[in-house]
Amino acid sequence: MTVQTREFEADTGKILNIVINSLYSNKEIFLRELLSNASDAINKRQYLGQVDGALLNSGDNGIAIKINKKSKTIEISDTGIGLDESDLAEALGTIARSGTKAFIERLEEAKDKKDENLNLIGQFGVGFYSSFMVADKVDVISRKAGTEQSYLWSSDGQSGYSIAPETSRETAGTTVILHLKKDAKEYIEDARIKTLIKKYSDHIPHPITLTGTDGESAVVNSAEALWTKSPKDVSDDDYTQFYQSNSGNFDTPFITIHNKSEGSLEFTNLLFIPNQAPFDLFEPERKTKLQLYINRVFITSDLGDLLPQWLRFARGIIDTPNLDLNVSREILQNSPTLAKIKKAITKKVMSELEKKLKKDPENYDAFWQSFGRVIKEGLYEDHENRDRLLKISRLYSHKQDKFITLQDYVDQMAENQKSIYYLASENLTSAKRSPHLEGFAENGIDVLLLTDPIDEFWVSMVPNFSDKPLTSISREKVDLSEFSESEQTPESKASEETYSDLVEKTKAILGEAVSDIRMSSTLTSSPARLVAGESGLDFNLERILKAQNPDYQGTAKVLELNPSHPLIEKMNAALETNADVVADTAQILLQQARILDGELPDDPGEFAKQMTNVMLNAL
Ligand code: ADP
Repeated sequence: MTVQTREFEADTGKILNIVINSLYSNKEIFLRELLSNASDAINKRQYLGQVDGALLNSGDNGIAIKINKKSKTIEISDTGIGLDESDLAEALGTIARSGTKAFIERLEEAKDKKDENLNLIGQFGVGFYSSFMVADKVDVISRKAGTEQSYLWSSDGQSGYSIAPETSRETAGTTVILHLKKDAKEYIEDARIKTLIKKYSDHIPHPITLTGTDGESAVVNSAEALWTKSPKDVSDDDYTQFYQSNSGNFDTPFITIHNKSEGSLEFTNLLFIPNQAPFDLFEPERKTKLQLYINRVFITSDLGDLLPQWLRFARGIIDTPNLDLNVSREILQNSPTLAKIKKAITKKVMSELEKKLKKDPENYDAFWQSFGRVIKEGLYEDHENRDRLLKISRLYSHKQDKFITLQDYVDQMAENQKSIYYLASENLTSAKRSPHLEGFAENGIDVLLLTDPIDEFWVSMVPNFSDKPLTSISREKVDLSEFSESEQTPESKASEETYSDLVEKTKAILGEAVSDIRMSSTLTSSPARLVAGESGLDFNLERILKAQNPDYQGTAKVLELNPSHPLIEKMNAALETNADVVADTAQILLQQARILDGELPDDPGEFAKQMTNVMLNAL
């Protein structure tokens, strides 16, 4: 018989090291991880067995734990689907997930923060590797359903593992044998293991039989599908344990939604909205992860379409008797029953979010920080639910310096204000120092600061809220004169005349770098700003487009000058007497305006030269 020794993939080795060394105080979760894997494997075998009956287990399904005091081992056996040679290498020799690199970085950053580490592990599904926190050697003996050969995978969790054929298993399934470390002897206690099963895995829907050190066996868990109980018989703690073991997350759920719907469409949902965002939230597939059960038989967790994609962070299960157990995946994917369930549970989630926002705005905002960006995808693409999503979206108010809703904005609009104003920017810091805001702040008009890339897209799909158009203050020309105490119109006419020469000259100097130059009615303290020209795009949107298409050139902007700024007055006065400095100043003003919008100067070398010239002149 050949024993093959292989090395772990580079990242796997590194992760193992971190997992083993930094999770010292939460070792006990290894059992939950292994039991949850065993339960998944049994579910999978039952599901595949619907199509190919030969795969089904002829005896009873279940998980058996054996504690052996003499050999200092714990054995966890299941009657699940099992693994063949290549499955073993793939499932236990690699951490085949994208985002692994991000994971390692975060783990290293969070080394000292216990809670954060815990979260990280679950999010990345390094569940099996938690065995090495308590074991210095792990053997996995497995036989895949439908095959005749079993294999032994063995590793000390250091550099690699070996795989060899073996003969001890007579039926399909998997046995994980943990050779406990010296400092993990506490787990050779029956009572300890029993407590852990009750604590973390009580609701696992298969019996877990514990054979203790005295050789006596008993089923330890209640093996009851939690969602079949009435909500009044389930404690918060039960829900949290279920959520954690079902999702692999370690936080407590922000919202738990447990209902049974009866009538022509019958289903039970036990859904959880997490508090903390998982790492793969922004993976391109945007898959949803609810588990589908038909009459308590697990069917699948990767239909990917049981919820709208903007709700992909929700976890939990749907159980319905309205589907046939042995329907194919294709039929499931196009099932009108599932489409109706999807619609109903999406409504439920939205209504729960509405309630939370009303009752507990503080925690809602914390939730929004984690998931707002995902929900905004719904504003863009979920036409059917858009209006409701708009009501639960939180947007940053410049005036109030906090998150508000669009309705809050509309409620406190100035009497003659007709638009909802917003500024899209890369982040709050640069938004807040933007010259675009000056006139609005001066006149007490609130502006919503939108800093997520998705914002530019959803606003384009939402022309109005409560009959008020959404207006970009960096893209559209806004006349603030009606909000101003002083009469502005005659003054601005006068300024146009006063500055007509300056405008002409700067147009000649700046040429095609700008699409137009005009005097501003909104600037108060900055000398200049750039706005999108007619049908042009502002810098923020151009940045997003450039990220997608590096060849995208962008559009020329309109340069607005502030007629009441001393620099503009001085430039005007020096048009004839100091033309060179005026020319350099005009260039610098343009580049400054770019910088304030988060851009680099067009030509940094030229910019530095112009600055030097102006400084030389000033000294
Ligand atoms: P996760 O369960 O999150 O995918 P794990 O590291 O716990 O991550 O397990 C990796 C993979 O190993 C699982 O996805 C599964 O394919 C396989 N596996 C683990 N334990 C078992 C088991 N008891 N029976 C069958 N397959 C298993």
